[in-house]
Amino acid sequence: MSEPLQRDVMECDVVIVGAGPAGLSAAIRLAQLGQEAGQPLTVIVVEKGAEVGAHILSGAVLEPRALNELLPDWKERGAPLHTPVATDEFRLLLGSSSLRLPTPPQMKNHGNYIISLGNLCRWLASQAEALGVQIFPGFPAAQAIIADGAVKGVITGDFGVDKKGDHKAGFQPGIELRAKHTLFAEGCRGSLSQQLMQAFDLRKECDPQTYALGIKELWEIDPALHTPGKVSHTVGWPLPSDTYGGSFLYHMENHQLAVGFVVGLDYSNPHLDPYQEFQKFKTHPSIAPVFAGGRRISYGARALNEGGVQSLPTLSFPGGSLIGCAAGLLNVPKIKGTHTAMKSGMLAAEAVFANTPETYPEALKNSWVWEELYAARNIRPAFHKGLWAGMLYAALDTYILRGKAPWTFRNHADHTQLKEASGCPKPDYPKPDGVVTFSRMDSVFLSATNHEENQPCHLTLKDPAVPVDINLPLYNAPEQRYCPAGVYEIVEEAGAARLQINAQNCVHCKTCDIKDPTQNIVWVPPEGGGGPNYPNM
Ligand SMILES: Cc1cc2nc3c(=O)[nH]c(=O)nc-3n(C[C@H](O)[C@H](O)[C@H](O)COP(=O)(O)OP(=O)(O)OC[C@H]3O[C@@H](n4cnc5c(N)ncnc54)[C@H](O)[C@@H]3O)c2cc1C
Ligand code: SF4
Repeated sequence: MSEPLQRDVMECDVVIVGAGPAGLSAAIRLAQLGQEAGQPLTVIVVEKGAEVGAHILSGAVLEPRALNELLPDWKERGAPLHTPVATDEFRLLLGSSSLRLPTPPQMKNHGNYIISLGNLCRWLASQAEALGVQIFPGFPAAQAIIADGAVKGVITGDFGVDKKGDHKAGFQPGIELRAKHTLFAEGCRGSLSQQLMQAFDLRKECDPQTYALGIKELWEIDPALHTPGKVSHTVGWPLPSDTYGGSFLYHMENHQLAVGFVVGLDYSNPHLDPYQEFQKFKTHPSIAPVFAGGRRISYGARALNEGGVQSLPTLSFPGGSLIGCAAGLLNVPKIKGTHTAMKSGMLAAEAVFANTPETYPEALKNSWVWEELYAARNIRPAFHKGLWAGMLYAALDTYILRGKAPWTFRNHADHTQLKEASGCPKPDYPKPDGVVTFSRMDSVFLSATNHEENQPCHLTLKDPAVPVDINLPLYNAPEQRYCPAGVYEIVEEAGAARLQINAQNCVHCKTCDIKDPTQNIVWVPPEGGGGPNYPNM
């Protein structure tokens, strides 16, 4: 029998898993409270990306409400909010034309800023460190420590394990970070957060969480075509009307354009390919001209929550709390979750500092976060009946009912929604032109994703037979299309089909963990520092 691993142990007051806006806001608030009370706490933040921001991908238009509360003098401190939103535009794309629609109130961005969320996180990290918070990038939390019915901290991932699970030269066991309280701020579909929801039965009183996949590119465009502060959203073409989704185009600083496409993961046609839908979208006659003379500089993808308040799990449990998108706090009609993630982190920090962490869910319910999420709760589920019914209901809910309908629409799990491939039409996806549209592999290259090759595959299969025995015959192996990084490939070997997993391409979007129809794929953190290296996504 092998000896149990001897791990280094670090004790602290609070461990925070994830250096995104939720985790960093919590860290800053804890440090501020400690300073004010003259009782500094030891706060440790672990981050799986090689540096803070490396795994952060967002739109992003920031509503600065939570930032104003957390660091009211952010301007003087040099926060990277350089581009105030100047104009908003909302359009319906039809085959080859487009129709400008009134911008829904939730999508009006006066007073907001177009930012790179990765850069905001880098700046928040510097503010946290200046207050004494310790941040460890390159250290994924691999496991929660649960003892006597409570979370007691986390264990970070081991370094130097080979494909077969054996130790390589230079092997270093993960560290036990023991804390009085642990805040899970892993973002959408966090791997430990998923385990905790099971361990503490946190989802027993809510609807299933629902998700979308967001795919994004960053372009440097011709200055003559750049309108700093312009925000555009579209719905419609090329998505079929029974599939939820749409695009965003944000004109940022330095002639950069953030362009992205979001597809609801409750789509039912297994032939649909979100990546190809995005590429096709860019060819629309009202969109393509903006790329003329431009250059694509980055690519990435990330899932986002769409379930709203009816899908929120229990947020607090012995020894730990879920904050930000790990809990599911995104406001879908606004397509914004950063301000709510930050505020939830701040509220959890206040509850933890007061030694009453169990009061955090109630504090959230009494805050503006709840008020806006509650009002928005019926809009996304209304689109289950398709684009037209959804738009009609959204208008009714916004202008007449004002979010106060005496009913709440229910959510369903995305992985249950795929129909069998044989009864579904195959969309037509043109070949990439290498100018506006690109192959998946060219795109993955721009994500700068990188994983040590000789390590256990972080895309684990509960049953290795399912991809070929079930997914291939019934759904035409949909993982080949929903993965935006080409990780999954059905290959023929000696006359038999086999699923090949190109794990080194993974950009950590978590879509496979969500959409696999039999829930057979489980995403676990790879060795620290592996994954995308986003510059300013
Ligand atoms: C395409 C797209 C567009 C969006 N547009 C907008 C927008 O315009 N405005 C807006 O407000 N919001 C937008 N959002 C939503 C917004 O990005 C999220 O709501 C926000 O990032 C949530 O913050 P978070 O801190 O909860 O999680 P995240 O930002 O996801 O951060 C989580 C961090 O935790 C790390 N992590 C995860 N697991 C572990 C682990 N086990 N160990 C260590 N580290 C871990 C991750 O690497 C990451 O750095 C968008 C999202 C997407 C995908
Ligand atoms: S393997 Fe899964 S998590 Fe990784 S990029 Fe593909 S769908 Fe996303």
